[in-house]
Amino acid sequence: MIYDVIVIGAGQAGLSMGYYLKNSSLSFVILEKNIRIGDVWKDRYDSLTLFTPRSHSSLPGLALEGNPDGLPTKNEIGNYLENYANIFKMPVKLDTIVKRIDKREEIFVIYTKNSTLQAKNVVIATGPFHKPKIPSFSKDISQNVVQLHSSAYKNPSQLKGGAVLVVGGGNSGSQIAAEVSQSHLTYLSVSQNIRFLPLSIANKSIFWWFDKLGILKAKGSSFIGSMIQKQSDPIFGYELKDKVKNKQVTIKGRTSSVQNDEIIFNDRTRLKVNNIIWATGFVPDYSWINIPQLMDTNGNVKHERGITKIKGLYFLGLPWQYCRGSALLFGVGDDAEYLSRFIVNK
Ligand SMILES: Cc1cc2nc3c(=O)[nH]c(=O)nc-3n(C[C@H](O)[C@H](O)[C@H](O)COP(=O)(O)OP(=O)(O)OC[C@H]3O[C@@H](n4cnc5c(N)ncnc54)[C@H](O)[C@@H]3O)c2cc1C
Repeated sequence: MIYDVIVIGAGQAGLSMGYYLKNSSLSFVILEKNIRIGDVWKDRYDSLTLFTPRSHSSLPGLALEGNPDGLPTKNEIGNYLENYANIFKMPVKLDTIVKRIDKREEIFVIYTKNSTLQAKNVVIATGPFHKPKIPSFSKDISQNVVQLHSSAYKNPSQLKGGAVLVVGGGNSGSQIAAEVSQSHLTYLSVSQNIRFLPLSIANKSIFWWFDKLGILKAKGSSFIGSMIQKQSDPIFGYELKDKVKNKQVTIKGRTSSVQNDEIIFNDRTRLKVNNIIWATGFVPDYSWINIPQLMDTNGNVKHERGITKIKGLYFLGLPWQYCRGSALLFGVGDDAEYLSRFIVNK
C-alpha cells in the first residue's frame, strides 16, 4: 500500500497533524519510536511544571482538564497526549523508529526498524530536541566532577555533595538551578541577563495577555516576531529571582573554558564545583533523511511554514516554524491545520 501521508513522531506536533488528517479522506499512519505516547514529557526532570497554563497547553479539539489558570505537570501532559491519541483513534504505530527516508521519483520510502513503508507525502514531526549540545571543553573535566545534560537530569539525588554549576539560563536551567539550590550551593552561568516575567498580571495568566496582544501568533518575520527572537527567552515566574536575591543561587557570566577542573567564565573568574548540569540546549539531527538539498549551510531545514522545496516533504513543530507558538502545545495546531489543508488541496 502507498499511504497518502506518513507522519513521523507522535508528540504534540504529530498528533495535531493526525487530528486534521482524520478530518480528511487521506490515508495516513503516524510512526513513533517510543513504546508509549507521552514518554518524551514523562522522561523530562521529575519536578518539571510547564510555564504555560492549562488554558494554553492543549491541542485542537480537546481541552486539558483542570484549573485553566494552573500550571500542568509534565506527567499530566504525557497522559493527556496518550489520551488524545486514544480518544481520536489515531493510527499510531508504536515502537517504530524510522531509520532512513529515501525519495524514489514521486514516492517516499520509509525504512523502520522492521518494515519498509511508502507514502506520497511525509511530515517530519520528530521534535526540536535531538542531540544534547554540550561545549567540547566538557571532555577535559575529570571524572571527579559529575556532569549531566539537562535531558539526563531527573532530580538532585543524581548529584554529589558540594557545589553545583548549572550552565544555561533558559527555562530548564533556571528551574533546575532553583531546585538544586535547596540542597546544594548553586551557581547559574548565563550568557545574557535573565528577563523575568510574572506568571500573571491583574489575575490573568501572562499567556492570556500575550494572546490579547497577538504575541504568540506574531509571524517570525513581523516586527514583533523579530523583536522577540532577538531577545533571550524570558523566565516565567519569580522563583529563581527570589533565590538570587536571597543568595541561594549565584549568577555567573558565560562559561568559556576549563583548566584543571576549574571552570573559567568570560569575566575571567574561576570556580571549582563537584557537579555541572549542562542546560545548554540541543542540536538537530536529520542525518537519517537521505534527501539532498534539504538544509541550508547552517544545517537548518529550508522551508516556508513547514513546506520544503522537496515536493511532498513537510516539517511540523520547528521553533518559529511560523510564530512563537509553533513549538508550543497551544500553537502547533494552527501549523498542523495549515499543512493538512495544503496537502489536501495540492
Ligand atoms: C524543559 C521543557 C519545558 C517546556 N515547557 C513547555 C511549556 O510550558 N509549554 C509548552 O507549550 N511547551 C513547552 N516546552 C516545549 C514543547 O512543548 C516541547 O518541546 C514538545 O515536546 C515538542 O513537541 P513535538 O511534538 O514537536 O516534539 P516531541 O515532543 O519531541 O515529539 C517528537 C516525537 O517523535 C518521536 N521520534 C523522534 N525521532 C523519531 C524517529 N526517527 N522515528 C519515529 N519517531 C521518532 C519521539 O519519540 C517523540 O515522541 C518545553 C520543553 C522543555 C524541554
